Amino acid sequence: MTKNFLIKQYISDKKMKIKHNYLSEQFSNTKKIFKLINKTVKFNDFTLGKYVDVFEKEFCKYQKVKYAVGVGSGTDAIFLSLKALGVQEGDEVITPTYSFYATAGAIATTGAKPIFIDVKDDLNINENKIEEKITKKTKAIVPVHWSGRICNMKKIISIAKKYKLHVVEDACHAILAHDDDKKYAGNFGITGCFSMHPLKNLNIWGDGGIIATNNKKIYEKLRLMRNHGLVDRDNCKLYGYNSRLDTIQAAVALEMIKKINSITNARIKNANYLNKKLKLIKQIKLIKDQVNYKSVYHLYQFFCEKRNLLNKFLRKNKIDSKIHYPKPLHLHDAAKNLKYFKGQFKNAEKLSKKIISIPVHEFITKKQLNFIINKIEEFYKYEG
Ligand SMILES: *Cc1c(COP(=O)(O)O)cnc(C)c1O
Repeated sequence: MTKNFLIKQYISDKKMKIKHNYLSEQFSNTKKIFKLINKTVKFNDFTLGKYVDVFEKEFCKYQKVKYAVGVGSGTDAIFLSLKALGVQEGDEVITPTYSFYATAGAIATTGAKPIFIDVKDDLNINENKIEEKITKKTKAIVPVHWSGRICNMKKIISIAKKYKLHVVEDACHAILAHDDDKKYAGNFGITGCFSMHPLKNLNIWGDGGIIATNNKKIYEKLRLMRNHGLVDRDNCKLYGYNSRLDTIQAAVALEMIKKINSITNARIKNANYLNKKLKLIKQIKLIKDQVNYKSVYHLYQFFCEKRNLLNKFLRKNKIDSKIHYPKPLHLHDAAKNLKYFKGQFKNAEKLSKKIISIPVHEFITKKQLNFIINKIEEFYKYEG
């Protein structure tokens, strides 16, 4: 039987001194959030209540999109987007082999086949390998803005136009991220899909997601699909799903989005400091950023030698380093029927053996950053 493995993880994470999980600090004062939640409880508008509408409008301002639809999770945001575009069994959807499992899961649960593509050294989909994988069955491309670094969307959109494919952005890491034209995540494809999981940059007290779009037709359709296809109480226009952003979670999101600029700026500042120091260590290779991009560092990652040993060493020193992720998507059991093989996506396979993530969130102090840097230096002094 599959156990709830998260319980054990929560307990072990709590023992770390420099944590990846910063929720205790972030929610040390919950007065304002509980005030909004109390209003919801008094008014009883638990499903698609007022705060859902208010939050959707706020989100549009921050992400610079016309419309937004609050849904049950980031995974649902991708799934519903593909469903709304008519993606179904027999179709193919192109996506990178290096991502969180949900990207491929959302594609596969529509009935379509995920067609994996290798990634570049920034862990984003290699846009130069997309065209060779397009067939008559291809319906959509789902690029992932990994860790909040925008993909080469100019190229991806031009390919999509040429072959008449939909682009659904997995922007789960990419709130406030933009490219060199100051075009924000969610504005490139027909939809952009965001997660508000407790550990994402914009986070709530459970699961929730939001879909950004500038297309009115898709917007209308997604609003129906998330709520049983209901136009109003007595009229069902299409068979849909139940995937609504809870009003209580929308209340949390409304408070948190006020802080998203300062959260993001703190992450960028921490990442820049780490970059400056870690680039001096010869066993480490940093991930290069495009000069005018705004990358929002959902994760701070680098490639390194003796990765597993370094990870162990940092964790022994109570620094919550993590591996996101040790295996690309095509090598998991879930992909067995898709008939991929080891060695097929060389870069993703190579990078997943060298990647490591260290904490970068807004509550880390300069002293803690220096402690991490010193420990990494110490490790390579003896192991390098
Ligand atoms: C978190 C995440 C998702 C899924 O979001 P949930 O809200 O957890 O369903 C999808 N894609 C990526 C890249 C993610 O990191």
